Amino acid sequence: MTTTVTNWAGNITYTAKELHRPYSLDGIRDLVARSAKVRVLGSGHSFNEIAEPGPEGVLLTVADLPPVIDVDSTARTVRVSGGVRYAELARVVYAHGLALPNMASLPHISVAGSVATGTHGSGVGNGSLAAPVREVELVTADGSLVTIGRGDDRFEGSVTSLGALGVVTALTLDLEPSYEVEQRVFTELPLEGLDFEKVAASAYSVSLFTDWRAPGFRQVWLKRRADQPLSDFPWAAPATEKLHPVPGMPAVNCTEQLGVPGPWHERLPHFRAEFTPSSGAELQSEYLLPRPYALDALHALDAVRTAVAPVLQICEVRTVAADAQWLSPAYGRDTVALHFTWVEDTAAVLPVVRRVEEALEGLDARPHWGKVFTVPASALRERYPRLGDFRELARSLDPQGKFANAFVRDVLGDLT
Ligand SMILES: Cc1cc2nc3c(=O)[nH]c(=O)nc-3n(C[C@H](O)[C@H](O)[C@H](O)COP(=O)(O)OP(=O)(O)OC[C@H]3O[C@@H](n4cnc5c(N)ncnc54)[C@H](O)[C@@H]3O)c2cc1C
Repeated sequence: MTTTVTNWAGNITYTAKELHRPYSLDGIRDLVARSAKVRVLGSGHSFNEIAEPGPEGVLLTVADLPPVIDVDSTARTVRVSGGVRYAELARVVYAHGLALPNMASLPHISVAGSVATGTHGSGVGNGSLAAPVREVELVTADGSLVTIGRGDDRFEGSVTSLGALGVVTALTLDLEPSYEVEQRVFTELPLEGLDFEKVAASAYSVSLFTDWRAPGFRQVWLKRRADQPLSDFPWAAPATEKLHPVPGMPAVNCTEQLGVPGPWHERLPHFRAEFTPSSGAELQSEYLLPRPYALDALHALDAVRTAVAPVLQICEVRTVAADAQWLSPAYGRDTVALHFTWVEDTAAVLPVVRRVEEALEGLDARPHWGKVFTVPASALRERYPRLGDFRELARSLDPQGKFANAFVRDVLGDLT
């Protein structure tokens, strides 16, 4: 069978002409053991060549494994198979009266692919989506099934692992009792005089949106847990109708707003699970910096906004709590995340990506692993103090570098 395999955005066509779809664990183990080069494709929502297997490599998906979403209500955990997406997982977890601590803006992304790249939502007290993961099951280079749990000294390298350790066939996540969230949008928050720390901490999850056509933020989305107190938000005016973060787009596909309480999984993402975008006319970039640098970074972006605005659909500013995963962009530091949804024109966007990276120079920005960036690998390596430990871990599980594609080798250096 010869097909063209692309990512969700369509800006990457993988050189592999076939997407292998094993439907059993043994099928995965066998395929991995007899292949020289392997990469896994999750739901394909990354915007760069992180999943590219190379011309001789095998690209496989675990989406055809029998879906497992096994909730243990007593232990408050869920074991989920590698191909499951957050929308499906959240529905089952909610039906058991339980919850995840956070979600990304879109619920259609796969759990395994999301935690592999350090995907996150927002909230000064919320870690990335990898934070609740307590155990990873993976098929390693020789076809063995390896389980790495919290407490294992390899664990902090094994969740946000860029797909470089093996095929993640299942993950176990911690859960908490279910909770409700109400979402309110405020409009026109000035950059001048912004108290970023207070704004970012004013609800469980806070997102600031700007199109950089003028200084300041067009919208601020506050997601408040109903079991936490309501804070004042004196800095901007409450919206009187439902809004989409991108100016001019209809709000119909956005999650409920105007303070109507609802289940956590129907408020934490910005976009409804029922709305399934099969592809996207956009590119994305994101940079994660130490949170104390937030205002410096925002002013640096404001200084280049006339270059940024023409190719920008929307910029979103979020926060992520520090974590301990060696390759997490939030490793070791409370973080501010500066996200850009660009127009889908790579040639026009790339020079602006470079302008943004120059503007953020000196602010220790770590690019999102799954989005468009041009920061050279040599600079990236300096920003990950435990990168050497990850390299050792990759070598021990994959001595021949079977899972090390060009993207991974560029970032980590030679793994063999
Ligand atoms: C519309 C949209 C909204 C987004 N919103 C957010 C957001 O709110 N926050 C955020 O941080 N990011 C966001 N992202 C980025 C997205 O979460 C990441 O790119 C994430 O990696 C997507 O997961 P995926 O399954 O599509 O991964 P893929 O792009 O398919 O793969 C990413 C990496 O994970 C590896 N991988 C996937 N599955 C496995 C597996 N089973 N075993 C081993 N390795 C595996 C791949 O090899 C690859 O290295 C968004 C992207 C889009 C398109």
